[in-house]
Amino acid sequence: MKIGILLGDDVGLEVVPECVKVMKAAAGKSGLEIEWRPLPIGRRGHREHGDTYPAVTARELRELDGWIMGPIGHNTYPRNDPTWMMPPIRKDFDLFAALRPAKSYPSIPSIHQDVDIVFVRELTEGMGAGPEFRPNDEVTIATRVISRKGSARVAREAFEVARTRRRRKVTAAHKEPAYRLACGMFAEECRKVARSYPDVTFEEEMIDTIAMHLVTAPQDYDVIVTTNQFGDILTDIGAGLIGGLGLAPGLCVGKRQAMAQATHGSAPDIAGKNIANPYAMIMSGQMLFDWLGRVRGEARASEAAGAIEAAVSKVIAEGKHLTRDLGGRATTTEMGDAIAAAVRA
Ligand code: ATP
Repeated sequence: MKIGILLGDDVGLEVVPECVKVMKAAAGKSGLEIEWRPLPIGRRGHREHGDTYPAVTARELRELDGWIMGPIGHNTYPRNDPTWMMPPIRKDFDLFAALRPAKSYPSIPSIHQDVDIVFVRELTEGMGAGPEFRPNDEVTIATRVISRKGSARVAREAFEVARTRRRRKVTAAHKEPAYRLACGMFAEECRKVARSYPDVTFEEEMIDTIAMHLVTAPQDYDVIVTTNQFGDILTDIGAGLIGGLGLAPGLCVGKRQAMAQATHGSAPDIAGKNIANPYAMIMSGQMLFDWLGRVRGEARASEAAGAIEAAVSKVIAEGKHLTRDLGGRATTTEMGDAIAAAVRA
């Protein structure tokens, strides 16, 4: 396996190395051989190659099975300078779905307990994929793109994820009665895909209903699949339900490759202090192993993913090596070390 390491900016420089540390421990244990490829991106890319998305990185990514991507501090990049852009990696590599779990832990304070949801968000279309017009200064027209191909592939991903889980249930979130053609097409494709997965329960819920239902009874859900913009909002609700951004990992998947990327941004307010919570980044790496195991049939990657998940649960349950956002006093490095040690144990 060839896996890239892209540190990103700010807290990325602190949490990505912890993720790599834990992944290396798990790969060593399961006998999975990995060629690690550090690649420049963000401010480091600009410093060394004059571009936040250097050509060498764009080229080398094509050869990899997957990569770990730290957050990009794009909010402080100079505007209107094409060498300081947010790297368009999701688009370039056609990463079409974001898998975003929201999982509660008994020892971590959260609004709800017993939450275990995976959101599957479409990433390539929806609002923003189509053009916006301002025919005059009083009116703006924005468009939304929904395709059969985009809807079917994200639905398939959701059903594949559901098959790996105990409850095996997919809920499609949309609003067909209001957006008959756009949400209608998404819903039709989800229904078609559902027929190929008779072993998975399928249900549909209106986007406004699910927004409330998630806040009152998130335990009712297993896998939730939805379109790009709705997913953007629902996944942040998911993070809020279980204790915040430090606990929100993510994986962007394409046909051939996947990118581990936590939901949180570069958190410049806490960068450089060794206090950022590495959980989200470490569990994003765990998801990359899990995906490689599932899609490539690589049992050692699945085993490594299982080892990381068990180690993280153990360290959280013990409560001795948690960062301060989780109520502990450990540094980023101490929490990463404890998880790596638990993997090896
Ligand atoms: P962006 O626009 O780049 O996505 P954002 O506006 O969503 O960024 P974040 O950088 O994610 O903002 O930070 C939001 C808040 O969450 C900040 O107070 C930050 O310190 C906190 N935060 C983010 N990530 C972590 C983490 N890994 N550990 C602890 N706190 C975090």
